[in-house]
Amino acid sequence: MPKAILYDSTLCIGCRACEGACAERWGLPYNDKIASEERISAHKLTTIVTHGERFSRRLCMNCLQPACVSVCPVGALQKTVLGPVTYDPEKCMGCRYCMQACPFQVPTYEWSSWLPRMRKCDMCYERQSHGKLTACAEACPVGATKNGDRDALIAEAHERISEKPDQYYKKIYGLDVVGGTSVLYLSAVPFEQIGLRTNLPQEPLPMLTWRVLEMLPDVVSTGTVLLGGIWWITNRRAEVARKEGKGK
Ligand code: SF4
Ligand code: SF4
Ligand code: SF4
Repeated sequence: MPKAILYDSTLCIGCRACEGACAERWGLPYNDKIASEERISAHKLTTIVTHGERFSRRLCMNCLQPACVSVCPVGALQKTVLGPVTYDPEKCMGCRYCMQACPFQVPTYEWSSWLPRMRKCDMCYERQSHGKLTACAEACPVGATKNGDRDALIAEAHERISEKPDQYYKKIYGLDVVGGTSVLYLSAVPFEQIGLRTNLPQEPLPMLTWRVLEMLPDVVSTGTVLLGGIWWITNRRAEVARKEGKGK
């Protein structure tokens, strides 16, 4: 049964416990300065974003048909049966194609690392495969972030809307956008007012990605970006290996 996260913006109190739990799960630093950075980055894989009196969360949507997976030339990104989109840094060659393909601008890159990795939320794949909740859902004190079976969470979202029609915008974000996502949103206001993209197609992007790439006359420039990325990381690794060799 595919898993999902239901984030209900109407319940969120902006406490950022989800951010702290995510940082702990990844062994990343977390302090007041990082808490104040309302953007995802290589050291912050989820963030709360303030919209006046309302809050929203950003994290990898773990799309049902992820564009990042479809463009990764070496299979470093994988869509699992459980739902999370996982990343294997051992396979990654640093081309950063996933960064360009993601419609939600999620993947980030460790620019300051000597051996950089792409970073993104993997919907706590390890935890969920051992029957645990995602760290952010476990930490949320008010149930604004909930983790469970996608179908059950969709049913629950519909129930919340019908039980309190005055409190909710009557749609669930993530049901169909780019073919559906594993992160679902409820909101009191239209989704663009809490920073969600509402101009994306309902069709899965992998299909569009390849169709567009096939049609583009300047596909060579896309390939150049890819090859540039490969060249960059290959040289970086060789440089590091050379330096380590000299140090022995
Ligand atoms: S949100 Fe972006 S990085 Fe995450 S699964 Fe979808 S395409 Fe991939
Ligand atoms: S699901 Fe896990 S990796 Fe993703 S934001 Fe929550 S705690 Fe972080
Ligand atoms: S832990 Fe829950 S209530 Fe607190 S900011 Fe995150 S989603 Fe909102």
